[in-house]
Amino acid sequence: MNLVRKAVSRLFAFLLTAALFVCGAAAQEKATVEITYIANEGLMISSGGKKVLIDALLREGLDEYQRVPSDQLEKIETGRAPFDKVSVALVSHFHKDHFDSASVARFLENNPQATLASSTQVVEAVRKEQSEKIRQRIREVMPDWKQRVQHSFDGIEVTFLRIRHTHQRNYGVHNLGHIIRMGGKKFLHIGDAEVLAENFISLGLDKEGIDVALLPFWFLISDAGRAVVNDQIKPRHIVALHIPPQGAEMWARQIKASYPDAMICAEPMQKRSF
Ligand SMILES: [Zn+2]
Repeated sequence: MNLVRKAVSRLFAFLLTAALFVCGAAAQEKATVEITYIANEGLMISSGGKKVLIDALLREGLDEYQRVPSDQLEKIETGRAPFDKVSVALVSHFHKDHFDSASVARFLENNPQATLASSTQVVEAVRKEQSEKIRQRIREVMPDWKQRVQHSFDGIEVTFLRIRHTHQRNYGVHNLGHIIRMGGKKFLHIGDAEVLAENFISLGLDKEGIDVALLPFWFLISDAGRAVVNDQIKPRHIVALHIPPQGAEMWARQIKASYPDAMICAEPMQKRSF
C-alpha cells in the first residue's frame, strides 16, 4: 500500500514538474513585437532581432495613397538599419500601391539573407527583373481561393491565405493574406481583401487566436466590415491601414468610434509594440 502511495505521489510530482516546465516554455516564447508603419499597407514586423516586411517595397504608388518616403525606401532597398537583416519580404498583391518589381529585385540583391515569398503574379514580375543572383530566393506561394498553406522562413512561420481582392474588376488579382507568427503572437494582414463573409468562412480565423489584425480601413467603417472583423477574425488588437492621406482625420474619427484603441497608420515610421 505504501509503495503504491509513494509511486502515485512520485507520478504527481513528475506531472507537476512537467506541467510547470511546459508553461514556463510557453511563457518564455512570448516576446515584444514591434510594428513599424512604412506606407499604405506596408509594415515591418520585428521581434527578437528577426524582421519581416510586408507590402513595404513600392515606388510609384498611386496618387491617392501614401508612398514610402524616399530616404526610408533607400534604406529598405539597400538593407540599412532599421531595415537590415530582414528574413522575408511578403507582398499581398501586385498593385502599385503595394509592390514594385524593381524595388523588390534591388532589395533582394542587397539583402542576401532575405527571401521573397508571394503569388505567381508578383513572382513573375520580379523574375522579369533578370537578376540571376536573386532567383533562388524567390518563393512562389499560391493557395486556391479560401485555402491556406504554411511555410517557414528563418524560423518565422507564415500562413498564406488566399482572399479575394475588392471590386469585381480585380477578381483576377492574386490577393494573399498572411498570418505571421512572431514573439509567440499572431499577426494577420489581409491585403486588399473584399468585405465578404465567404472570403473568410473556410479560413476559420475566429478560432486562430489572432493577436493583431492589420486591416484595410474599409473593414472598420461599415457594418458589414465590422461584422467580419468581430465575428470572423476576432482579433485582440486592430491596426488600420490603407488610409488615404486626404481625409485621414475623418477616417480616423470613424474608425475610433468603433475601435477606440486601434492604431491608425497615417504617418510613415509610426511604431507600436505588442
Ligand atoms: Zn489592390
